[in-house]
Amino acid sequence: EGVIRSKYSYFADYRFKFLLDKQRIIDHFDPERRQFIQALFNCSPQARTWCQVDFDTLWHQFQGDRARAIAALDYFNEKGWIELESKLMTEVYHVEKAPNISAVVSKLATLFHEKESSDISRIHHLIDFFQSELCLSSRLAHYFGDQAAPTQCGHCSVCRGEIAVLPKCPQPDSNKHLIDGWLTQLEEKARRALTSQLKTKFLCGIATPFFTKIKARTLPGYGQYESTPFKEVKQWVEQTR
Ligand SMILES: [Zn+2]
Repeated sequence: EGVIRSKYSYFADYRFKFLLDKQRIIDHFDPERRQFIQALFNCSPQARTWCQVDFDTLWHQFQGDRARAIAALDYFNEKGWIELESKLMTEVYHVEKAPNISAVVSKLATLFHEKESSDISRIHHLIDFFQSELCLSSRLAHYFGDQAAPTQCGHCSVCRGEIAVLPKCPQPDSNKHLIDGWLTQLEEKARRALTSQLKTKFLCGIATPFFTKIKARTLPGYGQYESTPFKEVKQWVEQTR
């Protein structure tokens, strides 16, 4: 959509352990370099075995450049003097132009909604497929465009006369009083009124970034109806208030 452009990526975290004595590494270099390497090691506090590089301190106390530090560590690693590990790959983006936030938001919401619907319908297709009364191999072959496949393979569950029957969803009670209490707790924690969609996700135990943020999982109502169809729970939620 031209809203952001990927610029570069880097590892945010570096740690290493010494395979050669610290001083022997330092001794390999001329005085100017020694000073830098000593600073780098000083800024890499050692836990039991691993030293975690603290680039901020290196910069603030010694004006030690990050790129130079990484180049040095890579070199030590190549030499076999240390074992180096990097992690936390971080992507950096440039925001191309002041975006029209509400337009981007509504476009994304539509996109996610469509993806959700298509995922759900795919799950339904799969469930239908497993419960099919027609030869599964033959249905798969048709799906992949093989029209010449036999209509009965002779070895799938259907052909063996064992048509799969998936268990029905349990039908728990919709205790209006209980649901109402759980949702009140949720909204108190959220400190605002929530949509019925979000409340339903809460009762069905469907994780969202918002629930993580407010630690909704710790509330007693979270996931109480995780085995009940979403549509049904949503109806209860809408009737509750
Ligand atoms: Zn078959």
